[in-house]
Amino acid sequence: MALIVQKYGGTSVGSPERIKNVVRRVAKYKALGHQLVVVVSAMSGETNRLIGLAKEMQAQPDPRELDMVVSTGEQVTVGLVSMGLIQEGLKAKSYTGAQVKIITDSAFTKARILSIDEQNIRTDLANGYVVVVAGFQGIDKEGNITTLGRGGSDTTGVAIAAALHADECQIYTDVDGVYTTDPRVVPEARRLKTITFEEMLEMASLGSKVLQIRAVEFAGKYKVKLRVLSSFEEEGDGTLITFEEDDKMEQAIISGIAFNRDEAKITVRGVPDKPGIAYQILGPISEANVDVDMIIQNVGVDDSTDFSFTVHRNEFDKAMDILKNQVQHHIGARNVVGDNKTAKVSVVGVGMRSHVGIASKMFRTLAEEGINIQMISTSEIKISVVIDEKYLELAVRVLHKAFDLDLEPV
Ligand code: ASP
Ligand code: MG
Repeated sequence: MALIVQKYGGTSVGSPERIKNVVRRVAKYKALGHQLVVVVSAMSGETNRLIGLAKEMQAQPDPRELDMVVSTGEQVTVGLVSMGLIQEGLKAKSYTGAQVKIITDSAFTKARILSIDEQNIRTDLANGYVVVVAGFQGIDKEGNITTLGRGGSDTTGVAIAAALHADECQIYTDVDGVYTTDPRVVPEARRLKTITFEEMLEMASLGSKVLQIRAVEFAGKYKVKLRVLSSFEEEGDGTLITFEEDDKMEQAIISGIAFNRDEAKITVRGVPDKPGIAYQILGPISEANVDVDMIIQNVGVDDSTDFSFTVHRNEFDKAMDILKNQVQHHIGARNVVGDNKTAKVSVVGVGMRSHVGIASKMFRTLAEEGINIQMISTSEIKISVVIDEKYLELAVRVLHKAFDLDLEPV
């Protein structure tokens, strides 16, 4: 007997019919004698619909009230899933995040989980219940409803698996695993049988929307055994996320090409080349809760330099505003320019640690297609470039081919 947490995404619970499929799968696992906790997202499209409603009331919805509204999506699905299970003759009980007592900080719309009271869940499991928990939400210490950021149900699933010391956390989604890249862009993309946790972190953070990045971080921190599977297929092992490179079955140098369409690039030109400037530029940005991704500063010439970074496209206007109105004159910068039609492409693989020439191969491949590289950043296991968004698909395709990702590794 194992304790399994299964998380189902929005498309997997997108209609009563699909919820019945979930119910059948849960019943199958239950019949094998396992204990089951099921974490669900809102029905597909529902969170967007709720955000749309909120925006009709306020162009920039009040964050506390927005969480109040969007958290309802998951409340609906937990009830429906429980009903389906009861209808199948199983014992089932649904919980909102607040009812479980998933305690988070108070950063509305992007809250972090601080603790989970797993006592009720344990008691229910011991009494034979399937416990169905609303993903994406929690409650802060003052009792306010909070949400964990888009895609946050993954994090709920992993966090509950960690709190319960579950044997496995299965993430059911509309794809049957983690691919070398998005198959909609490259039809030859292959499913990976395994991927290391570090690679997954890079793939997730770089925009392969399979798993929310926080969920991967959580899994890494608490050593949760994580598996990504399709909720539409009966069989299939999905992709297992491993902790050791040695557990990796496929020893390819590069595991995948990740990309992100929603990048925006900002450059502060002619900033004084002296201590404290980076902080004065990025301090106000981070105070406004804008996440900064790539950061590049030039070598100074004549006591001045250029400072560039990227943000999510949705936060471009906000960041430009802050820089133009609060920062530029304050630090004596020449001007602030930006481009929100950029995209980021990255090659990811732990094999980079032991192989040279990956970067030059990447740059040559892009050069041969006449794609201009606007920014470059690297880490131990990835190389990322920012390019014009109109070349994104082409770049991903040629890189996938150049690194032989369409071929089974030998
Ligand atoms: N329903 C939320 C969203 O659409 C959370 C999730 O699906 O994971 O972002
Ligand atoms: Mg999701």
